[in-house]
Amino acid sequence: MEEIILLKLGEIVLKGLNKRYFEQKLLANVRRRLIPFGEFRVYSAQSTIYVEPQSESCDTTGAFGNLRTVFGVVSLSRAAACEKEKDAILETAKLYLKEEFSRARSFKVESKRADKRFPMTSIQLSQYVGGLLHDAFPHVAVDVHNPELTVAIEVRDFKAYVHAAPIQGAGGMPVGSNGRAVSLLSGGIDSPVATYMIAKRGISIVPVHFFSFPYTSEQAKEKVLTLAKKLVPYCDDLMVEVVPFTKIQQEMQKSCPEEYFTIVMRRFMMRIAERIAQANGCKALVTGESLGQVASQTMESLAATEQCIDLPVLRPVIGMDKEEIVTIARKIDTFETSILPYEDCCTVFTPRHPKTKPQIRQVEAAEGQMDIAALVDEAVAGIERVRIGG
Ligand code: ATP
Ligand code: MG
Repeated sequence: MEEIILLKLGEIVLKGLNKRYFEQKLLANVRRRLIPFGEFRVYSAQSTIYVEPQSESCDTTGAFGNLRTVFGVVSLSRAAACEKEKDAILETAKLYLKEEFSRARSFKVESKRADKRFPMTSIQLSQYVGGLLHDAFPHVAVDVHNPELTVAIEVRDFKAYVHAAPIQGAGGMPVGSNGRAVSLLSGGIDSPVATYMIAKRGISIVPVHFFSFPYTSEQAKEKVLTLAKKLVPYCDDLMVEVVPFTKIQQEMQKSCPEEYFTIVMRRFMMRIAERIAQANGCKALVTGESLGQVASQTMESLAATEQCIDLPVLRPVIGMDKEEIVTIARKIDTFETSILPYEDCCTVFTPRHPKTKPQIRQVEAAEGQMDIAALVDEAVAGIERVRIGG
């Protein structure tokens, strides 16, 4: 039996004139995700993307699994294709959904006709197929209001498709359709979630990690690369920029009052991230900051953090409780990695009594002895790039 995958498009259907642009992005993203699974024909029609295996050796199950994390897809189903004829549709449903029928206690048939030349109305087709399916599986009751199994029939231009209820897709918008942003990726719980949330809005991500060897270990860096790998199914391949941060911290220790350490480090991160953004055509920075969570995340601290740069800072988890962030971290499978105990560059230099309401003038005075431009240049020159693929 010929089996294909149907992907329903989400918000991009609403995009009017830009619809084609978004659709093309999504088609390209889908095609890229399918590469490891064989040759597929991928095209769109009527707000649906069709994924058709081109040979017996295609791994449709693997492909289906990999498409579940593609942003821009609201739902996915595996479907059996057949001739556009009522009895062919019936026989296909019997065979293809045999297992579903053996488990269900009730069902209904829902038909859609994109091809209005089909000789029956949707209702007539549902009634015809539904009646005979009930004869074939008499232990499964017909229930049009609250069925356990919905048999979907779609009569399209060239063929009819039969499938059970679709599963939920990743939602959002196709990665790359709304530009690029630099995401500051620490080893913690929050920044991978923030990265996922921004990618979901169609943003292509350039992850940046600040690394303070030997204050933080090789394992701390590996942990961040593992987190990046966990994000690849959502973000596509990533090029992680690992920035050497040790020198800045050592210079800071020499001349800054300890209570300003955190805020000064955060400002350096912003400046360097902005430079990376400029080099990569990124229009914003992304952080995992959440209001009030720690001393550096008061409104005053956030203001002082972003005062030294021009790009907007996107903080998608700003209003979320830890529990809410953790729920997403578990869903995208970053949580278990994030809680591994390797130290973060900021924790090494955490002041005993951090300023919770820093004033910009005092912060500027605190970092006044440092040669900011030279330190930023040196850090940028020392960046190591690590490609993370799926
Ligand atoms: P996270 O759970 O993401 O580590 P957090 O609640 O621990 O966040 P902070 O450590 O104050 O918060 O960091 C705030 C944000 O700054 C992080 O979410 C991240 O975006 C960025 N950040 C912090 N440390 C680093 C780092 N070493 N490399 C890259 N980004 C960092
Ligand atoms: Mg952290």
